[in-house]
Amino acid sequence: MVAKGDMVYASASDAEILEKGECGGAVTALLKYALESGMVDAVLTVKKGYDIYDATPVLIKDPAELAETAGSLHCGTLLLPKLIKKYLDGAKNEKLAVVLKGCDAKAMYELAKRKQINLDNVIMIGLNCGGSVSPVLARTMIADKFEMDPDSIVKEEIDKGQFIVLDKNGEHKGIPIDELEEAGYGRRANCQRCKTKVPRQCDLACGNWGVIGEKAGKATFVEVCSDKGAALLEGAAKAGAIETAAPIPKGIEIRGKIENAMFKLADKHRAAQFSALGESEDRLKFIMDETSRCIKCYQCIENCPICYCVECSTKKPHLVTPGQVPPPFMFHLIRFSHISDSCVNCGQCEELCAMDIPNALFMHSLQVEMEKMFGFVPGVNMDLPVLALVEEPTERKRLSDTGDDQIYNIF
Ligand code: FAD
Ligand code: SF4
Ligand code: SF4
Ligand code: SF4
Ligand code: SF4
Repeated sequence: MVAKGDMVYASASDAEILEKGECGGAVTALLKYALESGMVDAVLTVKKGYDIYDATPVLIKDPAELAETAGSLHCGTLLLPKLIKKYLDGAKNEKLAVVLKGCDAKAMYELAKRKQINLDNVIMIGLNCGGSVSPVLARTMIADKFEMDPDSIVKEEIDKGQFIVLDKNGEHKGIPIDELEEAGYGRRANCQRCKTKVPRQCDLACGNWGVIGEKAGKATFVEVCSDKGAALLEGAAKAGAIETAAPIPKGIEIRGKIENAMFKLADKHRAAQFSALGESEDRLKFIMDETSRCIKCYQCIENCPICYCVECSTKKPHLVTPGQVPPPFMFHLIRFSHISDSCVNCGQCEELCAMDIPNALFMHSLQVEMEKMFGFVPGVNMDLPVLALVEEPTERKRLSDTGDDQIYNIF
């Protein structure tokens, strides 16, 4: 019997999924089983669109379509939870299985505690995540550093600390990620700072770290993080959808060491990136200078998982004078005051900013300070946020009782 806390090596039994999967296709096989067995009504995941830089979200109801979603897209920087909130009614009316990186998993919890997503109806399949690469920067990186045509690349992978690409003529090239990052390429800046490497908030956490021996590259290391995850894994194994084996103890040890090494690396990046912002007044001046490029396109608000209010305070004329570009600094102050306690460092507000303003860096630096002050860690459990600027107990109760979607009903 499978139980919370178990760890297994798993791979797909289906030959096509085994072949197409990144590391043996266990994730795709589990999704297929969840759909076929009626555990869920639909699966939300991503698949390759026009090319390897184009990760496209897909909602699948026909199990036969799942094989095309197998494989990891390291230039896939989407955040799926906001789509569940926006387009799938927060999973209130149908059961979903969804594939989540660490930042997605944290966003799921932040939306769930605000009653915007019903976690009871969701099976969360987590992916370990060393980081993702912005599709725009990936193209430049492949042209400049790999000296290859970005349009000729048919496959990419991250292996043993290298970003490796394969072009349509069969030419392979790999460059260490450290070297790429020193040159200003590589993983997104928020990924460099990220410490959610094994998303244990999910029902299952799946990745390749720790798979050694003959199964290396052909199986996924699955950590069972909840009873729901245990039921899925057990059901899929009993139905013959996946094959499982006990992990090699040395592999478990290696996995732990890699996770710790990634934490240390993230701390190093945090220190470097936050100190580059300066301190106190200098930091404020830097943020004000950078945000003075803002064209008020609202992409930061549109894509932030914590921003979902019907009446956004940035649109209230007595707070932000309408029609001004760049908008008054109050526009950004409102976001800082509403989001900073709960920012999950997903990077969406930075990557999709029309003016390349490092919004996620600003918000994450605030979140880290707030965490030190209040002890609230976003996205790890269902604890309610700090809710700065309001009568906390009253506001917490109001949100919890009503499921209101106006987070800060104070103006
Ligand atoms: P498959 O059966 O191939 O299924 C993979 C699933 O992931 C599919 O449902 C697919 O749609 C979905 N998917 C692909 N790309 C994305 C994306 N960008 N965002 C959301 N969903 C996506 N494992 C580690 O142990 N260490 C790492 O450092 C690590 N980094 C990763 C970074 C990224 C950006 C991604 C996407 C995955 C990473 N993984 C990492 C997980 C690993 O690559 C495999 O996904 C995992 O081992 C499962 O393999 P599989 O063959 O069972 O999955
Ligand atoms: Fe992965 Fe973290 Fe980057 Fe999200 S923020 S893509 S979990 S490294
Ligand atoms: Fe993500 Fe930016 Fe919102 Fe933080 S502020 S959760 S980085 S979109
Ligand atoms: Fe985001 Fe605040 Fe606007 Fe709500 S009111 S959408 S939290 S900026
Ligand atoms: Fe301003 Fe960038 Fe936000 Fe657009 S995404 S409103 S330019 S900060």
